[in-house]
Amino acid sequence: MCRKVLLTAMGICSYFVLMPEPSSHPRLVGRWALANADQAGQIVRVECYHCSITRHYYPADLKALFGNVPPSGIRMRCEKCGKTDWIRADFVRMSAAERQAIRIRKLVGVRMVRKVIWKDE
Ligand SMILES: [Zn+2]
Repeated sequence: MCRKVLLTAMGICSYFVLMPEPSSHPRLVGRWALANADQAGQIVRVECYHCSITRHYYPADLKALFGNVPPSGIRMRCEKCGKTDWIRADFVRMSAAERQAIRIRKLVGVRMVRKVIWKDE
């Protein structure tokens, strides 16, 4: 399937965003996953170790994009360096004070991109 997921929130952000890459890993089912993290009140922390960038997301938002996957199933691309292999996602539990100190990136919408393919005949 030729499908690409983009965050429409991109336009609001003047610098980079971590963009999700759609993935489906049946073998990841059955582990502590986004639905569990959501119920437990955890936050998803996504880091690019190459750029030392950290972003926080709601598990329910990422579940809408990736399905109910564990942290290893969350595939994102760093918009600053364009790399996917330096991205690491974790579920974290935060105190109220810690949550006050960070900004959580909320999913505004998902836009499907139409790709045009030409063939010379
Ligand atoms: Zn990066």
